[in-house]
Amino acid sequence: MYVVAYVDEESCNGCKSCIRSCPEPNAIAFISGDKKVRIVSERCKGCGLCEVECSKASISMVSVVDTVVEDDDPGGS
Ligand code: SF4
Ligand code: SF4
Repeated sequence: MYVVAYVDEESCNGCKSCIRSCPEPNAIAFISGDKKVRIVSERCKGCGLCEVECSKASISMVSVVDTVVEDDDPGGS
């Protein structure tokens, strides 16, 4: 299990403070049409800096369960 940032797009005002705070290149995308940001979860390292930086409390850290599923029931169908 690991954590990534998640943006509540309802409260995000598109200020981009989170983008400036993020140490990972292109981990937060600005959606110009919506004037919102979105986390690129594959690039997010879960450091939490953006959550601290957001004055709108729009960012929270969420746990992600690894999706590697082992087949432990080879005889079943
Ligand atoms: S810092 Fe918060 S309000 Fe500003 S763009 Fe990022 S998520 Fe949106
Ligand atoms: S948690 Fe860290 S790496 Fe992920 S988007 Fe926020 S600042 Fe960037």
